[in-house]
Amino acid sequence: MGSYEENYLSKRPQYLCKMCGKCCRVVTAPLPYEKLKQMAEANDQGAIDFLSIFEPYKSVYDAKKVDAEIVENIENRLKEDGNYNEKEMTYYRCKFLKSDNLCGNYENRPTLCRYFPSSPWAIVPPGCGFEGWLFWKREEDKQKVRRAKEELLELKLLAQRTKDSETLKKIAAVEHKLQKNIELYKKYGSENW
Ligand code: SF4
Ligand code: SF4
Repeated sequence: MGSYEENYLSKRPQYLCKMCGKCCRVVTAPLPYEKLKQMAEANDQGAIDFLSIFEPYKSVYDAKKVDAEIVENIENRLKEDGNYNEKEMTYYRCKFLKSDNLCGNYENRPTLCRYFPSSPWAIVPPGCGFEGWLFWKREEDKQKVRRAKEELLELKLLAQRTKDSETLKKIAAVEHKLQKNIELYKKYGSENW
């Protein structure tokens, strides 16, 4: 295991995983299936990895037959964030998941499995051991955005008090950086935080 991976995993309490296999049994991707296939054909490693392990369910109904709670949770979370598009939804199952919920490809599982959940905003199945931890991580992100908004207000006041062009330039650069950071969380509703 490389040092990047060690460092990454050290920030994720792996013991929280209950090894229920739910995140391998019914998952979705942030991009439509057709788009993923095109990306894989264009050598996008993320898309190649995803499609090398996940097989699409024929329909949402089929995915719901396996675990309706996971599907409904994904739908609800995407709707809350305003990112739900029914026509683009495909659900998948990993072909390596064994009947005892363990991974049949553990040594060779791709990065997306090794680093799951890769972001505090990852949608995990109901009951996933990471739920509480992800909640706090999302709160940390929200606090960062709130601090950035406060700093923007302070910078606005500072800009009103100076006419020095160099200082104004520096203020504008910092403002730009802060706004970009806030923008990163826009899809999760950062305007309202
Ligand atoms: S759903 Fe959560 S607890 Fe279950 S296997 Fe996946 S990461 Fe672990
Ligand atoms: S490769 Fe293993 S860890 Fe990854 S989704 Fe499949 S069963 Fe789960």
